[in-house]
Amino acid sequence: YLSRLKQTEPQIKSFLHVSEPEKVLKQAQEIDKKISRNEEVGPLAGTLVAVKDNICTADMPSTGGSHILEGYRPPFDATAVKRLKDLGAIVVGKTNLDEFGMGSSTEASGFQVTSNPWDLSRVPGGSSGGSAAAVSARQCVVSLGSDTGGSVRQPASFCGVVGLKPTYGRVSRFGLMAYASSLDVIGCFGSSVADTGILLHAISGQDARDATSSKREVPDLISQFISPSSLKSRPLEGLKVGLIRETVDVGVDTGVKTAIQGAAAHLEELGCILREVSLPSFSLGLPAYYILASSESSSNLSRYDGVRYGNQASSDELNSLYEDSRAKGFGPEVKRRILMGTYALSAGYYDAYYKRAQQVRTIIRKSFKAALDENDILISPAAPSAAYRIGEKKNDPLAMYAGDIMTVNVNLAGLPALVLPCGFVEGGAAGLPVGLQMIGAAFDEEKLLKVGHIFE
Ligand code: GLN
Repeated sequence: YLSRLKQTEPQIKSFLHVSEPEKVLKQAQEIDKKISRNEEVGPLAGTLVAVKDNICTADMPSTGGSHILEGYRPPFDATAVKRLKDLGAIVVGKTNLDEFGMGSSTEASGFQVTSNPWDLSRVPGGSSGGSAAAVSARQCVVSLGSDTGGSVRQPASFCGVVGLKPTYGRVSRFGLMAYASSLDVIGCFGSSVADTGILLHAISGQDARDATSSKREVPDLISQFISPSSLKSRPLEGLKVGLIRETVDVGVDTGVKTAIQGAAAHLEELGCILREVSLPSFSLGLPAYYILASSESSSNLSRYDGVRYGNQASSDELNSLYEDSRAKGFGPEVKRRILMGTYALSAGYYDAYYKRAQQVRTIIRKSFKAALDENDILISPAAPSAAYRIGEKKNDPLAMYAGDIMTVNVNLAGLPALVLPCGFVEGGAAGLPVGLQMIGAAFDEEKLLKVGHIFE
């Protein structure tokens, strides 16, 4: 992995920080020694993990992709990172992202643009573009990302890897830099459903440091990967699958639509009962999401004042110190979100925007609940297109936001969703991957992993 990383990183630029190879090798050698002495090693011993740079790591920089945190080294590990290390995993580095997770192409990083390993002239998706590209280019085994409105699932789709957004509350957010706290979750990338499920299992479960983490017991997510059920001819006999009509109706590239229809047919061959499901509130997800996410972010980002963390502008006067630190530290997309959010929350507009968006969120949550009472899983594309060219949407924020249509509803409803490769469209040298999104009932990651494993 280290030599592969060295060879591919100059073109792909997945990482903002890479551990020194000697240090990584030393950790691996320690594990080898333990094994040769017949000492106990953790179940993830020696697994090379990359971590999105908005997730805190004690011994490495954590910038959130923002100049305002340049040089910041947290004094602690995020709970998810700590759990991985405790199980023997080795963190190989910190991956690039849109600043604080705000974006869909990783072009809004304060530091660098990451390329899609399938075609270097294209974006890897975002905001967890670095984590998706790192797994896709086999620079690491698995990686952590975060998903507020699709930031694990859309880059997984663009980079042809598996991405899992857990149920809100399944994984501790302690040590994840807050973007929109009611939507944020840490998620997983892997090159197979099994790897991704094993990673999820390792980081799941209650954490006293995050009051929103769920007390629910984490079921055994792993043994199904070795069970022989997939050897039966129709291993998913009777499973009810709802294809969300609104996601294949309009505004989806024909190549993507064809791939999703092919995936649906494959599920039928495996024994699933396929039907179309209509969610009339689906298109309201996008405006509601951008109001709520911006509102929460405008509040969350007030902590970056140049005093408590990271970069400080030089000024003798307190107010201008705040202003200059924020003016220099934040990039244009972050400023846009803060302005939108502050506007939506201001006294005169609160009822018209924020409150209304909350009401829409309730409608969306109920409609998904009803659809999942009738169906085991729901399916849709993970994104309306395959990876687009670097620069294509960078200066058109609305076009960029519109690309999140397939994913944001799932965060508003707090549900788990798995994205996995299901076909290709033309483009690049070898075609561009298309991802299928499977949405499950709250805390039913187990079913998604089972179906995904059999499907792939
Ligand atoms: N693209 C969406 C946004 O910019 C989602 C980002 C995310 O999930 N972090 O808000």
